[in-house]
Amino acid sequence: MPHPSRTPKALGLAVTAVLGLTLAAPPALAGPAADPDPVPALVAGRDTAAPQLVTGLAEAAPGSPGEAARAHLAAHPERYRIDPGQLTEVGTGRTAEGRHTVRFQQYHGGVPVLGGQYLVRLTGEGAGQRVESAGGKYFTGLTAPTTPAVPDPVLRGLALGSLTDPRARAGATAEDHGLVVLPGGTGRLTRHFTVRGTDRAGGQPTTREVYVDATVGGIALAHDARAPYQAGARPATAAAAAPALEPATGTAPDAYGRTVKVNTARLPDGSHQLVDLTRPASITTYDAAGRDLLDFIDGLPADLRPAASPTSDFPAATGADGATDAHLNAGIVYDFYRDRLGREGLDGKGSPIVSLVGVTNDGAPIMNATWDGTMMSYGGGGPQYHSFAVALDIAGHEMTHGVIDHTAGLVNAGQTGAMNEALADYFGNAVEVTARGVSMTDPKAALFGEAVCRTGTPEACAGRRLDDRRTTVDDYLGTDLSLDSGGVHLNSTIFSGALWDIRRTLDPLTADRLVYRALADYLTPLDDFVDGRNAVLAAGRSMNLSPTQLRSVAAAFDAHGIRAGWESRLGTDSRPLVRAIPTSMAAPAVAGGRWVMGNSTGTGDPALYTGSTTAPGTPTRLSPEDGRRHSWAATDGQSAAWLAVGPDAEGRFGMEVLTRSLAGGPVRSLFASRTEQLAEVRISGGDIAFLVEDWESGRTTVRLSRDGAPPVELPLPDGHRPSGLTLRDGVLGWSEQWTAGEREMSAATVRSLTTGRVTARYESAGTVSSTVLAGGRLLWVETPAGPAARSAIRSGALDGSGVVDVLPADSPYAQVTAAITASDQAVTFQAVISRDEGGKPAGGWTNAALPKLWQLPLTGGTPVRVSCNRGGQYEAAADRGTRVLWLDATTGRTDLVVRDRPAGRC
Ligand SMILES: [Zn+2]
Repeated sequence: MPHPSRTPKALGLAVTAVLGLTLAAPPALAGPAADPDPVPALVAGRDTAAPQLVTGLAEAAPGSPGEAARAHLAAHPERYRIDPGQLTEVGTGRTAEGRHTVRFQQYHGGVPVLGGQYLVRLTGEGAGQRVESAGGKYFTGLTAPTTPAVPDPVLRGLALGSLTDPRARAGATAEDHGLVVLPGGTGRLTRHFTVRGTDRAGGQPTTREVYVDATVGGIALAHDARAPYQAGARPATAAAAAPALEPATGTAPDAYGRTVKVNTARLPDGSHQLVDLTRPASITTYDAAGRDLLDFIDGLPADLRPAASPTSDFPAATGADGATDAHLNAGIVYDFYRDRLGREGLDGKGSPIVSLVGVTNDGAPIMNATWDGTMMSYGGGGPQYHSFAVALDIAGHEMTHGVIDHTAGLVNAGQTGAMNEALADYFGNAVEVTARGVSMTDPKAALFGEAVCRTGTPEACAGRRLDDRRTTVDDYLGTDLSLDSGGVHLNSTIFSGALWDIRRTLDPLTADRLVYRALADYLTPLDDFVDGRNAVLAAGRSMNLSPTQLRSVAAAFDAHGIRAGWESRLGTDSRPLVRAIPTSMAAPAVAGGRWVMGNSTGTGDPALYTGSTTAPGTPTRLSPEDGRRHSWAATDGQSAAWLAVGPDAEGRFGMEVLTRSLAGGPVRSLFASRTEQLAEVRISGGDIAFLVEDWESGRTTVRLSRDGAPPVELPLPDGHRPSGLTLRDGVLGWSEQWTAGEREMSAATVRSLTTGRVTARYESAGTVSSTVLAGGRLLWVETPAGPAARSAIRSGALDGSGVVDVLPADSPYAQVTAAITASDQAVTFQAVISRDEGGKPAGGWTNAALPKLWQLPLTGGTPVRVSCNRGGQYEAAADRGTRVLWLDATTGRTDLVVRDRPAGRC
């Protein structure tokens, strides 16, 4: 049950909802509220011609389930639009009632497609076998290449570079999972890595699933893995490794000090281990007894043995560390799935179950529990908390993540990840109330994780409650993937609340079977809330629920706002320019009423677009169609300059600075390199400036081209590192960092391109960043050295004659969290006002705690809100006057939006 964590945001790289398709809803599918049949007969796919769901079939399908399912799809090309040659059967499940579900994985030219799974459900046997329904995600528009253009070491380097925090990057590893095509438009060839850092700041090492674009470089998708520990390594299992184990029983203290009976294994020397051999799957529990988490980064250490005792009577530490409770709870959860739902273990095949307790972070208990892809790990223990292993609902939650990994495989990001968390909470709660005999009408029945505290009431201790009545329209937390992997925990009770209501309305056993059937036989890895609703309803129809029962299921989803098109019912005060941006590289630039932005909306190929900030209309493509990614753009309102990244005409990976008039005309190349990183392209009139970093030495220089001439390097003092370029009307500004003796120094610098001289250098012992030329002055963000320092906005005259505070460091608003942007009239910044010094929200994780945009006059004043949109606001770009464009995540997808003047107070 990991608590939300915030991962640092890559500077200059929008970590937005990269899989827009998983977050967008089709407004056209919103049905009338009084629909007499709540189970849809047909749900169209999004971003694909293949349907998401087809129900109500009864078509004969002879043969083995796999052959029958494949033949059925092949026999109806008009209905399904699926090429069966691109499908590989990955699993066939058989229910107690004799139904079969065949799950197929989609491949594109031999490369698996993330979330491309299609299921066919059959009833009956032999000649009576019929296809009852089918559905999932099969992406019909994929034309992406299937051979990487970027060399593997570069891809690995990019993956490691996605850890923006240098503390996490030191000693980090990248485990290569091979090529994966990301869906969306024409698709995107990536290489998938699990990146593990060693930073302890979050109480556990950083682990990220990172998909690096294998055609043009760049991070295509990165989200939190659930795993703090190695996901790929199979833990050693005592049962398999030691055949001399003999089933036995013993006694052990539990976390409350009570003596309980435990199933054990007796070794030849008469000692006992916490290995339960009474089920088809062995259940083994390890006690790390305080060992450090870094010992476990590659899986269970080879010298670790299951929790042991010289006699059948286990010592006190076994209870205090949580080993006894982890051991018992694993058995209870196993039995719940087997007895109630007919499932043998987490993988359905009775593979060994492993739990781990007692891992610490630098000696301190880890206040969390996790499923890492192979085992459960429970932290905690101390004066305030028991080991997290005491909570049966938490054990059920973590083990259900294991079940989900072996069924729907829901990706841990955004709405999909929130549904993953919701299902884990639902079954965790169901296991606990069932095993403890708690009625669904008991006021405490909805509490989650309430057993871990040593003091205080269950209500105060519970991490979540499934009866919190949250809805999409009122409560959906609109954040990008930098917070809680897109709100996977923060939005989960919207969905789990609907499931919990269903459990209260139907009888609990029917509800558990219904939700399990949706999980095992309907859901696919990129499904969202509305897909989840349809899956549960279709599962209900297949289980022959009555029309009344089905209507109550639909009503529960309605009550939580989970209906097609809910995103469009959220109130916003901005004007959308581009909706549902499916790229991680979208950061708008704007000037003179024209915006430019790299985006892959529509066709799915990575191109640069331009449009008007005032007149609606279809964006115009600026970049050539050459198979490269075009983004990182700048504009002066007349022309754009940008970076093209990918294989050049000779097929070699490189980067190039291109420029073109916004009105069209030829694309001109200004500079190309295969050995250097290009960044921060800026344009003003005939001047174009950019940064060049040598990949080998790391040395960064400023290059300038005037009137189309070849770029020249501008002189900088030795060891000075430039960043944050700004260019306007013959003046170039930047920030530079250098080391003076022991001290890190920083300055905001101005250079006249006419005279070639530096006209101002404002030095600081803090950190200067994000410079902007506006209103005849240079503005910058200045963060004083030291902990809990606030970032102020300052401005200096271009001739070096003086500095003023625009936003003083002692202002309550001086919490600038991203690059500033300015017109000649106003400066706009991103800030999170309602958080304490540790970065935690003062009033809890609500939309109010997400980054918002603020604006104030260039001459200073009290900042006002740019927009009252309730979700996260990112990547602001100032146009003329007070007009600002930004990426808005309110709806759970990312839109490019604009406002002409600030909203003021919200
Ligand atoms: Zn979880």
